[in-house]
Amino acid sequence: MTDPPPEAGANDQSPSSGDRLDSGDSSRPTLTRRSFLRRSAAATAGAAALAASLRPLTDPEFDLGDVGSLQKFLQKHYKEMTEEEMDRALARIRREVEQRFGLTPNVRDVKAMDGVEFVYALNLSRCIGCRKCVHACAAENNLSRDPEIQYIRVLEIPKGTIDLERADHHYDRETVPDRDHFYMPVQCHQCADPPCVKVCPVEATWQEPDGIVVIDYDWCIGCRYCEAACPYWARRFNFTEPNLPADELNPDMAYLSNRPRAKGVMEKCTFCLHRTREGRMPACVEVCPVGARKFGNVLDPESEVSQILKSKRIFVLKEEAGTLPRFFYYFDERRPRSGANVPDAPAPVGRVELGDEA
Ligand code: SF4
Ligand code: SF4
Repeated sequence: MTDPPPEAGANDQSPSSGDRLDSGDSSRPTLTRRSFLRRSAAATAGAAALAASLRPLTDPEFDLGDVGSLQKFLQKHYKEMTEEEMDRALARIRREVEQRFGLTPNVRDVKAMDGVEFVYALNLSRCIGCRKCVHACAAENNLSRDPEIQYIRVLEIPKGTIDLERADHHYDRETVPDRDHFYMPVQCHQCADPPCVKVCPVEATWQEPDGIVVIDYDWCIGCRYCEAACPYWARRFNFTEPNLPADELNPDMAYLSNRPRAKGVMEKCTFCLHRTREGRMPACVEVCPVGARKFGNVLDPESEVSQILKSKRIFVLKEEAGTLPRFFYYFDERRPRSGANVPDAPAPVGRVELGDEA
C-alpha cells in the first residue's frame, strides 16, 4: 500500500525548491512543515492548524520545552530524514527519556518488512469483555496514565443486534461476560483508504507499506483534523502533558510507535509495530485470555489470519464509510459450511472477575 494521493488544500500547490518530501514521485506535490507554515499564511489549511503551528514563533510566553527542544522543532519530516539525521533524532529521544525517566531506552527506527501486509481478526464469539487488552496496550505503548489514554475501547452491546447506538464502553461489572451482552473491542483499523491521512494538512500521518498508519509525533501540529475524520474513534489527543510513572515506562520503543509523546500531539494504535515488525505479536494479542485476537500477514496464504479470512464469515465495522479496514470481526458459526476449514468452536469460557484492571 502506498501513500494516498494529495488532498485538496495545502497540498495542491506546486512546491518550490526544497519543499518536497522524498516521496519518490516527482509529480506529487508534497510539502514540509516549514513550507506549510509559509503557505498557511495564505489561508490554505484553517485557523486552528495555523495557530497551533505558528505558536512557537509568535507567542512570547511559549516555552520551547513544550515542543521538546529547538532541535526537535526544526527536525525534518520522517520521510525526509537521512540515516544520520534519524540517528541524531534517536539520540535526542534517548537523552530526553534518560532525563525524564532515568533509564536508557532501546529506541530505534523499525522499518516495514517486504512482502508483509498486516491484518487483524477478532472473534466476537470468544471475547468476554475483560479489558485485559486495553491495559496491556497501555503498558506496552507508554500511554498516559493521568489523564488516562487508552487506544482500545471495548463496546458492550446487547445480544441480537450490532446497534452501536446501544453500545456502552463504560460498562462496570463485577464479572464478565454478561449473559445478555456481547463485547466488541475497537481500535485503529489501519484502513486501506484512511480518511485521517487525507485530511492532515502537514502529512504528519501516513500509511506505511505494511498497511500500518503512523504519526510522526514531532511533525504533528495538533490541529485534530484526523481525529474528526476517523469514523472509529481511534485517535487520541494529548490535551495536557502525558503522565507516565518512571517505573512503568516500557523502554523497548520505536520512533513511529511507543516513544513518549508530548502535549499537543495526536497518537493511536500502531499494531505495536516495534514488536510486529520484528516478528512478535501485538501486546493485546498476547494477553487475551481466550484467544479472541488473531494477527498476521495476509500476504502469507498459510498465516492464521489468511485462513480465517478464507473460512469465516467476516465483517468490518461501518463498511458504508468506505475506509477498507484491515481489522475484521467474525463469530464462530454453529456448523461449518460444507467444505470450509473451520476450527472447532471454543470450549465454554467461565466468568471472569473484574478487579482493578476493569
Ligand atoms: Fe476481549 Fe480478549 Fe480484549 Fe478481553 S482481552 S476484552 S477477551 S479481546
Ligand atoms: Fe485512520 Fe481511524 Fe482508519 Fe485508524 S481507524 S486508519 S485512525 S481512519
